[in-house]
Amino acid sequence: MKIAHTPVTAHSYSSHSFYLKRDDMLHPYFSGNKARKLMSLLTYEDPSVTHLIGYGSPQANSLLSLAALANIKGWQLEFYVDRIPAWLQQHPIGNYRLALELGARVIPVSTVCEHNLHPESYIQTHRLDDHCLYVPEGGRSLIAEEGVAKLADEIADWAQEQAIEHLVVALPSGTGTTALFLHKHLQPKGIEVITCACVGGKDYLIKQFEMLGEQCFPTILDPNRNHHFGKLYQDDYEIWQALKEKTGVEFDLLYDPLMWHCLLDWLPQHPDKSLLYVHQGGLVGNESMLPRYRRKFDV
Ligand SMILES: *Cc1c(COP(=O)(O)O)cnc(C)c1O
Repeated sequence: MKIAHTPVTAHSYSSHSFYLKRDDMLHPYFSGNKARKLMSLLTYEDPSVTHLIGYGSPQANSLLSLAALANIKGWQLEFYVDRIPAWLQQHPIGNYRLALELGARVIPVSTVCEHNLHPESYIQTHRLDDHCLYVPEGGRSLIAEEGVAKLADEIADWAQEQAIEHLVVALPSGTGTTALFLHKHLQPKGIEVITCACVGGKDYLIKQFEMLGEQCFPTILDPNRNHHFGKLYQDDYEIWQALKEKTGVEFDLLYDPLMWHCLLDWLPQHPDKSLLYVHQGGLVGNESMLPRYRRKFDV
């Protein structure tokens, strides 16, 4: 199975033109940057492995991509969570719904262990053996470099073919794994990577970068606003909606709006640069974000 070489499309927004790397089109479920980060496992061959083990939020984009990967490879995914909200259990939607359909087991730690353990501690102490392959939350791992390096190569080849000069690549960060490895592989080719910290701010993002053992980091833009991960903001919805109307492309609602707020400040100050935005998928997650927005803001 070959999952790579997504197209690049051209758009404009707020009178700025930009290119879009369509990693939302990698594969319907094994999609976006989670697929890039997990790509090295697609060709991983070890007959003793029967289980893929992960943890995080039951609505996480990573849950769906891990479920799709396990489904392709014939592994059983066990995904540990703190808890599953009652409403979600009663009416599964989004990433949770599709992951269950792909055969994932989503397991609250409290149902398998009396102690109030963090999912990561539970896995480390109770659930790792030779039959298990373990992926840290959000794919924050060195296994991610190979797949992200491939994305960097695709971008660099495209820029060369199209003779694009002064290229800057933009993408929002959660763990920062994608931005960091993109930067590592694009900087030697003279391509700058810019990002913003969607989870926990700039200091937290730099700590995440350091945990991956690198010393040279992408540029982190400052959003100049208070922003808490997973919270709903009306102007996030508005920018998401405006982008969709202007480009005909649906973006992710959790990460992309903050990066676009940053870019609307950055673009007028850098008229000499060509911008390539990396669409990192996450659209199935919108299935649960949109009803939340509709309830909260009546949009
Ligand atoms: C996970 C995710 C991110 C963040 O990726 P990191 O590599 O953790 O920084 C950004 N956008 C979307 C749509 C995602 O699913």
